[in-house]
Amino acid sequence: MTREVWVIVTAAGSGSRLGAEVPKALVPLGGHPALTRVLINLSQVEDVTGVIVTHPESQRELFAQAVPAQLPYAIHLVPGGVSRQASVYAALELLSEISPQSLVLVHDAARALTPPSVFERVIEGLVEGAVALVPALPVKDTIKQIRPDAAIEDFPLVLGSPNRDALRAAQTPQGFDFERLWAVHQKARDLSADEAKAAPDDAALMEAFDYPVRIVAGDELALKITTMVDLKLAEILAEEQPINTPQLPFGQRGDLRE
Ligand code: C5P
Repeated sequence: MTREVWVIVTAAGSGSRLGAEVPKALVPLGGHPALTRVLINLSQVEDVTGVIVTHPESQRELFAQAVPAQLPYAIHLVPGGVSRQASVYAALELLSEISPQSLVLVHDAARALTPPSVFERVIEGLVEGAVALVPALPVKDTIKQIRPDAAIEDFPLVLGSPNRDALRAAQTPQGFDFERLWAVHQKARDLSADEAKAAPDDAALMEAFDYPVRIVAGDELALKITTMVDLKLAEILAEEQPINTPQLPFGQRGDLRE
């Protein structure tokens, strides 16, 4: 492995749809905050040079406490922005200063139970030369495309039912060549100020600028914790993934970088 691999963990969302008292990235799953689980799972992924976590601006201390001691990679915390796209931008800006030649994975802390094997598949694909990779699963439900501005809002009009075989549900970690991802984020920066207009994920930005985005196999454990039902399911699954690391219990780290 000649190029450094950095992982941006987006954790600056409020998680209002979850109705939890703490930010979504800090909800406890099987006794450990979601973010802590992500960072420990990442310590089992070979070749990770460093991790950049985006956090809600006013909650740095709280997030620092969820960072385990003695991780095998460098770790930085950066304040996120008003949209996910703005948060990723802030992390990429830091990466442009510390490792501009790297491969970069962008991962949602909300997908707290993502197994190390998914990260490894994405890294392998990038090393083999892919420009942009998205882990994804076939869709189970039939998807209906609707007209969002339908006159009767409670009963929007269905425009069609795309063939399920041609659809995939995108997950994270999504992997990129840093230079190209940073370039598209800079070009699309004006979209990031408004959550309604911002890109739903990083692959969508690459697609918009005509870069080839490819799919790798995702994993059902990489589910995004968004609703109360997702949280209940993740809690049950987390009980089956006990964390046994000698560095617990966690404390505040003195060596965290800005
Ligand atoms: O809100 P949503 O579930 O789409 O968020 C996806 C991920 O992006 C979450 O991990 C969340 O913490 C992160 N996020 C962020 N900055 C924002 C909004 C969301 O880092 N402003």
